[in-house]
Amino acid sequence: MFRPVEKILNPPSFHMVGDGFRVHNFIPGAVTMERMNPIIMMDYNSKYYFSPTDQPRGVDVHPHRGFETITIAYKGRIAHHDSKGNSGIIGEGEVQWMTAASGILHKEYHEREFSKQGGEFHMVQLWLNLPAKYKMIEPKYQSIDKDSIETIKISELSRIELIAGKYKAHQGPATTFTNAHLSNIYLKQSEECEFNFRSDDNTCILIVEGSVELNNDSKISTDQFVLFKNQEGMIKIKALEDAVVLLISVEPIHEPIAAYGPFVMNTQDELREAFRDYQMGKFGELN
Ligand code: MN
Repeated sequence: MFRPVEKILNPPSFHMVGDGFRVHNFIPGAVTMERMNPIIMMDYNSKYYFSPTDQPRGVDVHPHRGFETITIAYKGRIAHHDSKGNSGIIGEGEVQWMTAASGILHKEYHEREFSKQGGEFHMVQLWLNLPAKYKMIEPKYQSIDKDSIETIKISELSRIELIAGKYKAHQGPATTFTNAHLSNIYLKQSEECEFNFRSDDNTCILIVEGSVELNNDSKISTDQFVLFKNQEGMIKIKALEDAVVLLISVEPIHEPIAAYGPFVMNTQDELREAFRDYQMGKFGELN
């Protein structure tokens, strides 16, 4: 028996985040924060060509508190700096996992050389909520490069790149505060793989490249998003052409969500406190 599909979504119209991220916002939107909890945001920059520039495009200094930001690059490179002194470049197939927790300032830009040359840019940013007891811990930064991703061969040319959580006996490299499975699946045409998650997990996929047949039934195309029902059953993904699929399955956090802009807490009071702390400079400094 297959895990049934709840909805298939086309990408909503795009908006710009700063001048560097041309994103379709799947969550919160057609899928609410509560429904895909603890994934409380998904911004998808579908493949888009940016022209050469000497002034890297992106988002200038801004705060976060109460959750984690996860950035996955498929095409192009992203540079990152934060107020804890962390910085890095996210290259193709790589992931940056930033635990904002008690508060951080950061900025996110196209990497300088990529900007100079211009090119196709293709990425996802997720916000993963933190349980209340971890919201005010020290911020943390995980740079997950090609070498640290757990690669599982399905066949000669198809593979799963496990970022977080489990697949069979394999474990992804990211340390997490909730049970979360995140993987990129690279399938050659006509090849397939299967997954099984707990029925109370919130589970979705995004088709990053190509098209797939899901559960011997639905055909899903590039840039479409699929939300699964909270029911037992196997998820079977078969590539109709060479495909890349982002798969997310997360154990819900059963706590209230209070969200305002870059802060995600449990109560309105905590949101006011976050805003106050930010204005008082408690998130550090970053130029
Ligand atoms: Mn940010």
